[in-house]
Amino acid sequence: MNSLDPATIDNLLKHHPDVLTPLAQKEEEYLRGVRCPQCRSDIFSRQVDATRPFVSGNSLPNFNCKCGDCGCLYGPYSGLILEG
Ligand SMILES: [Zn+2]
Repeated sequence: MNSLDPATIDNLLKHHPDVLTPLAQKEEEYLRGVRCPQCRSDIFSRQVDATRPFVSGNSLPNFNCKCGDCGCLYGPYSGLILEG
């Protein structure tokens, strides 16, 4: 697979508005308040949901949170524990 060099990418994108940065900033702000539904820890890593990497209405990758303390996997928006 070939990839484009950064200068070509910049040239292709320079006439398009940046719609991803504001979405990512809003998501980061939301995630600062997310706590593990099982142990209330605020330490987590993101794991892209391989079964649904993108969902309708959201341009950012769909991910779940893996708790850094108890290890459970949960949905950051639903609060549902997917793996205990
Ligand atoms: Zn936890």
